[in-house]
Amino acid sequence: MNSSNLIVISNRLPFTLKRGPDGSLCRVPAAGGLVTAVAPVVIETNGTWIGWAGPGLSEGELIPESLPSDRSPTAGLKSGQIRPVNLTDWEFQMYYNGCCNATLWPLFHSMPDKAIFNQTYWLAYKTVNQKFAQATLNDLRKNHSNSDTVGIVWIQDYHLLLAATIIRQAASAENLNCKICFFLHIPFPTWDMVKILPWNREVIQALLDCDLVGFHVDDYCLNFVDCCRRGLGCKVEPGTKGTYRVNKGGRCIRVMPHPISIPFSRFEDLADKAEQTLCSDTQVILGVDRLDYTKGLVNRFKAFEILLSTHPEYINNVVLLQVAVPSRTDVQEYQELKDMMDQLVGRINGKFSTAYWSPIRYIYGSLSHSQLAGIYRDSDVGLITPLRDGMNLVAKEFVACRTRKPGVLILSPFAGAGEMMKEALLVNPYELETVAETIHRALQMPENEREARMNALRSKERVNNVEQWMAKFIQAISELIQEDGKEISPSDSLLVQAEDFQGCLGDFIEDGFSLALLLDFDGTLSPLVSNPKDAALPSATKDILVRLSQLPNVFIGIVSGRGVEDVMSKVGIPGITYAGNHGLNIIHPDQSTYNHPIPENLEERTQTLLRQIEKECCVFGATVENKGVIVTWHYRNVPTEKREPLISKVKNMVTKAGFKIGTAHCALESKPDLGWDKGKASMLILKNAFGKDWPQKVRVIYVGDDVTDEDAMRDLKGLGFSFKISSSTLSMTNADRILPGTDSVVKLLEWVEHTVVKRSGVDTEIELRVEQVQREVEI
Ligand code: UDP
Repeated sequence: MNSSNLIVISNRLPFTLKRGPDGSLCRVPAAGGLVTAVAPVVIETNGTWIGWAGPGLSEGELIPESLPSDRSPTAGLKSGQIRPVNLTDWEFQMYYNGCCNATLWPLFHSMPDKAIFNQTYWLAYKTVNQKFAQATLNDLRKNHSNSDTVGIVWIQDYHLLLAATIIRQAASAENLNCKICFFLHIPFPTWDMVKILPWNREVIQALLDCDLVGFHVDDYCLNFVDCCRRGLGCKVEPGTKGTYRVNKGGRCIRVMPHPISIPFSRFEDLADKAEQTLCSDTQVILGVDRLDYTKGLVNRFKAFEILLSTHPEYINNVVLLQVAVPSRTDVQEYQELKDMMDQLVGRINGKFSTAYWSPIRYIYGSLSHSQLAGIYRDSDVGLITPLRDGMNLVAKEFVACRTRKPGVLILSPFAGAGEMMKEALLVNPYELETVAETIHRALQMPENEREARMNALRSKERVNNVEQWMAKFIQAISELIQEDGKEISPSDSLLVQAEDFQGCLGDFIEDGFSLALLLDFDGTLSPLVSNPKDAALPSATKDILVRLSQLPNVFIGIVSGRGVEDVMSKVGIPGITYAGNHGLNIIHPDQSTYNHPIPENLEERTQTLLRQIEKECCVFGATVENKGVIVTWHYRNVPTEKREPLISKVKNMVTKAGFKIGTAHCALESKPDLGWDKGKASMLILKNAFGKDWPQKVRVIYVGDDVTDEDAMRDLKGLGFSFKISSSTLSMTNADRILPGTDSVVKLLEWVEHTVVKRSGVDTEIELRVEQVQREVEI
């Protein structure tokens, strides 16, 4: 990491803050393995740590320096290296308890029934990701603007899945020298799970806005690259050392398995020093977990109950000691789990207890690492049976602390740790009888086998410790900088390549089907301009549309909010369909028309409204456009500070006059509620052109940029393929894909032409016909 600074972004800072009796703040160090490994590198590279400071820090308050007595790994982190992100109570509630822990956590642990999908949670999640990204960008601007020093941004975990997109867009626009990396501490699930998330595309895209993405184990990498392939149509290739290379928008994103671990020797030392805590007259089976439904505690206790029923010889002789750390107590699912566990413990203890013995010792609370080290060392069996777990560090800590007698580790294969700790007894936590029998086997295991298994586990974990995990990251990022150079490449969303269309449309455009292109005009074919009258179709777009209009089996419809005559004259290509006024008026290639029926006095009411808006609201540069039954008021040229009162006034007038309000780019529209929109118009156009069984005959591609296009995107979902033009990949849309701008529409049309010509083997006769049409157009 020569000439690089490490910038870590994590949900929380690497310590908590406590207010003393005199009101001053002091740091309380965190003891986790991640902090132990990462903080020294942040300190050494004079880097930065960005995170939420917790509710203790008031807005504008400074982070205190560490106390002289602080011996923790973060002690050398100067307060100037820490950027606290402030969150309001509401943000924290919606983002953390909501989106992170009630949506993403269960879904990523493949438990979709427990996941809540809520727009408000998601909006808060985006806002908070924006805050973290802004804090990162401020740091990059200060230290890495046109600089030789690379800022290595390392985003941690599922709380910050979207941050990379925001960072990359700004960093590429402002030439900030950085590489963006991400590490996920929880599992990455299969595409079947990921696609349940309504915002899955934004999430995958945001991870692809990184340069390097790390997951614990190969399975999670495979799931992710599969999502890139199936969700976004990316090309994936194998890389070196078990990595993958995902190609998207001309960039290559490295994906690597990167199993996290623990500070092995620290736990070994703690175990050596720990006091004897367990008495030796019973065998102890140990469970240590946060109280979380993913940890499989209910199944574990039920399996233990089966053991006691099938092997009564353990009554009075074996106990299950379970430490259950209170977790996310504000989330309902967790409160319900606590009640369930309390009942289960009571029931099993009630069923089997004798005067001097109870089968379950249940600690609802948290122990220090020193205390844990003692019970890890002195228990007989470590019972770690999560239903799903990103890694599970307890399994590794248990092994590190076996400094006296070997002990047996029982482990679920559904934890990341299960993928590498093969010498443990692996058991499926859903098979309760088998779990019971595995506990029995562990309790009876001969010393030689215990020793052989535990020695093998310990020697592997000793080497694969958290320091080695950090070293692997540094190695990967150094190789990446060497290979790619230091410049930040632009965001995917700003680059569209032919292979991107091949990925998503390659199989869609099928032989034996016609192709219909339904295209919006303003903001899709023609770039947006401040005065709508000045909008023009760029010549490259016109050329390609002319060529496409001449291809057999290609149908083109322009679906616009403009009046139909207006859009016809702006596009000016003969032989295609035009729909104006959001589809109220349609002119077919044979000049036949469709005009949606409108109530008798509608025109008169519309004209009255138009005059009123003209008189009272066309000030400070605002204009009004008369589109027959639609009136559009444009405020693009109105100074920002003057807009708000005018917008409310127009909205009031429109509602009072009994019309619906539509919003467009810096414009408000008054629309009659006719139950008609671009979606209904698109359906009609397709039915007229191809018959009512059009879905069996034609592949439809819809492209638009406006809210009014969303109606068509919604109606065509599953029947066609739609693209939304938006500068942000994080925008909400019914479309199947987002394209960054009108330039990318030209690329799309070129790709379509190339593909159709190649498939149908169209001959040079077409070229001659195109030349003829071009001459007609020019005339
Ligand atoms: N832990 C702790 N005190 C306790 C119980 C657990 O400090 O009373 C720590 C434990 O040492 C481990 C972490 O909590 O480092 C749990 O990590 P794991 O990966 O097993 O599960 P997670 O909670 O991250 O899902």
